[in-house]
Amino acid sequence: MSVGIPRALLYYLHFPYWRRFFQELGIKVILSPPTTARILNQGAAVTVDEVCAPVKVFFGHVLELKDQVDCMLVPRYVSVERGAYICPKLMGLPDMLSHSQTSLPPLFSPNIDLRRGSLAWLSPLLEARRFFSRSASSIGRAYYRSLQEGRRLERQLLTGLTPEEAFHGLKHRRLPGKRLRVALLGHAYNVYDPTLSMNLADHLRALDIDVCTAEMLPSEKVAWGLACRDGKELFWTLSKRILGAGMYYLKHPHEVDGLITLSSFGCGLESLVGDLLARAARKAELPFMLLNIDEHRGEAGPVTRAEAFVDMIRGRSTNARNIPTHGDAVARTAGAP
Ligand code: SF4
Repeated sequence: MSVGIPRALLYYLHFPYWRRFFQELGIKVILSPPTTARILNQGAAVTVDEVCAPVKVFFGHVLELKDQVDCMLVPRYVSVERGAYICPKLMGLPDMLSHSQTSLPPLFSPNIDLRRGSLAWLSPLLEARRFFSRSASSIGRAYYRSLQEGRRLERQLLTGLTPEEAFHGLKHRRLPGKRLRVALLGHAYNVYDPTLSMNLADHLRALDIDVCTAEMLPSEKVAWGLACRDGKELFWTLSKRILGAGMYYLKHPHEVDGLITLSSFGCGLESLVGDLLARAARKAELPFMLLNIDEHRGEAGPVTRAEAFVDMIRGRSTNARNIPTHGDAVARTAGAP
């Protein structure tokens, strides 16, 4: 038996848990390939315009996998921690798929709702037992081992690995020497998706910039960032991480040289967090840029803005830290003396 896992949305956070869980049950995991313009376009073609680009990408990956697998993992994420929620679009994902698509394989859609604590895992585990016809003991063992594996790989993200590097054992491209550092914040499924992010992290690295993300920041620092702001607490888990990481960096400008947030066009949560960070950045000493992304492809605009941003932060720090300018970096890249 095989299960398809779309390489989109919470794949970037939870893939190792699910992979190990299914492997322990003897179920073959088939992962869709990295997002391409074709996958994005086929998702956009079957969804309503109002849906955000990451959900369109998810649909594209489901269509990519549907003829290759016996069933498909599409969890209904409601909450992954006490007192907080996941975006409603992820709660409704199985319904959106099953009501808009025919000829899909059976969807395995456990209800993940952990608002009442970790015992709430019992319900999705029972769903897995029924769906895959496995014994309670094998489901329990698979769950326990998947937790161990998932936590181990989450710790690797803190060392600076990307999810793809950590999940698939890829070699990390560490840049040598002293260089500027930019925090690239946003939902992991935007920041790490090569097509949705328009390879922004790679473009920054090509400019000799170290890139760090919210997933690379320990949760205590994210909590510190959230605690240091006044105002009502957010109750969206993923938005809290972005906001907490952003606030932490804004209060620690010696740890990064600039902050870029990626926001999906049409996403209410990201526009709220982007605005909160933009307001906080006006009072802080850290350069800040907000980039909106959608399914329209065209790297030139975002890349030009990123280059201008890098030039600006180099200009700020050149005198203080004697770091080469972007012009120097381009000249070096071109092999000039
Ligand atoms: S949080 Fe925003 S980007 Fe993420 S699924 Fe919801 S609407 Fe889309």
